[in-house]
Amino acid sequence: MTDCIFCKIVAGEIPADVVFKNEYVTAFRDINPVAPVHILVVPNRHVDHIRDDAAFEDDVLKEMFRAANEVAHQAGIAGSGYRLLINYGPDANLVVPHLHLHVIGGRPLGPMVAR
Ligand code: 5GP
Ligand code: ZN
Repeated sequence: MTDCIFCKIVAGEIPADVVFKNEYVTAFRDINPVAPVHILVVPNRHVDHIRDDAAFEDDVLKEMFRAANEVAHQAGIAGSGYRLLINYGPDANLVVPHLHLHVIGGRPLGPMVAR
């Protein structure tokens, strides 16, 4: 048994709008999207976060970024462009402790402004 919400989504134990799945990763729509396309790509095997050694084992990151290319293509934003984002720690407001790659697009996102 796990308390991890994204492990439960991977296992199909709680509902999510899954847009892509293979043996390595699952991709599903963010419940609180910040853009018309906002998809989360997660490893099927639990990894805590990007600083977890497990993130660098078994092609986890490679498969996440490969899947991001695929879901962006499927979502129709491969041509218009999109942002890939991984949060870590309090300053980045990491909330869910299961590694996830945000795929954000479908509108002009603007520059990364300093403030
Ligand atoms: P973080 O800030 O941890 O990088 O982002 C976590 C993301 O997960 C947030 O954008 C949030 O909206 C999304 N999220 C949290 N809980 C759920 C859930 O139960 N289902 C889905 N589809 N997205 C979730
Ligand atoms: Zn998990």
